[in-house]
Amino acid sequence: SPPSLQGKVALVTGASSGIGAAIAHTLASNGAVVAVAARRSRLLEQLVVDIESAGGSAVAIELDVTDEKACRAAVEQCVDRLGGIDVLVNNAGVMLLGPIENADVDDWRRMIDTDVLGVMYMTHAALPHLLRDKGTIVQISGVDGRTAGYLTGVYNASKWAVNAFSESLRQEVTARGVRVVVVEPGATATEISSHITHSPTRDAVEEFAAALQPLTPDDVAAATLYAVTQPPHVAVNEVLLRSVDQQ
Ligand code: NDP
Repeated sequence: SPPSLQGKVALVTGASSGIGAAIAHTLASNGAVVAVAARRSRLLEQLVVDIESAGGSAVAIELDVTDEKACRAAVEQCVDRLGGIDVLVNNAGVMLLGPIENADVDDWRRMIDTDVLGVMYMTHAALPHLLRDKGTIVQISGVDGRTAGYLTGVYNASKWAVNAFSESLRQEVTARGVRVVVVEPGATATEISSHITHSPTRDAVEEFAAALQPLTPDDVAAATLYAVTQPPHVAVNEVLLRSVDQQ
């Protein structure tokens, strides 16, 4: 039988590293043509080479998801070059943890602009195409979208916002053939914590990560692949996964 995503087009944001890169590889190796988007275009070019040398097909699109016009242009570029969008994966995100007291409020703006508004802009721009193609939207939220904890307040707020927005969207579009999936990984081994600006928090997060065997980006990609390859009558609403070590 042909690969499960043969003939499908996927657009993955934040594909230049970590979970997004793994999802791009996985979707491509299952037959999708993948548009990989992020700011670091050199990493995207290398990813395209890697996907193509594994027999897949991909194109790179430079994108800053905090820029609404750029989101619209990225969607149009994907549709013009690849013919549509069947799967949109909103994965781009930052996790700038730290205390609320005396926080650098720029960190908050970056998180809300990227993790919340970026998801909303991409969803808004892609929705007409997804409705036409009966596509699937995957939001990479996290365990942090279901819990709230010490030092994670604004990141929690951003992922809870994604979950609320996605549940409302699910009710609006599912009966018209667009499936909305929220994927909620726990701690996953990527570079994400290296960008934390509050250094005591960065050290604490890295210590926490070193004490467990985290998920790998491929684990999250496998959950995503499962959700986007079910028969048309099945809507996988939510996938929550953690390392066995994580409470
Ligand atoms: P990485 O830091 O490895 O990847 C983040 C990706 O987002 C990069 O490709 C980065 O690309 C991109 N990105 C960041 N800002 C922007 C922007 N303004 N415009 C476009 N792309 C942007 O981290 P992860 O792979 O861990 O994170 C991916 C997603 O998974 C995030 O949404 C994160 O919240 C979520 N997640 C991660 C967990 C973890 O433990 N690692 C757990 C649960 C959820 P570039 O810099 O090139 O733009």
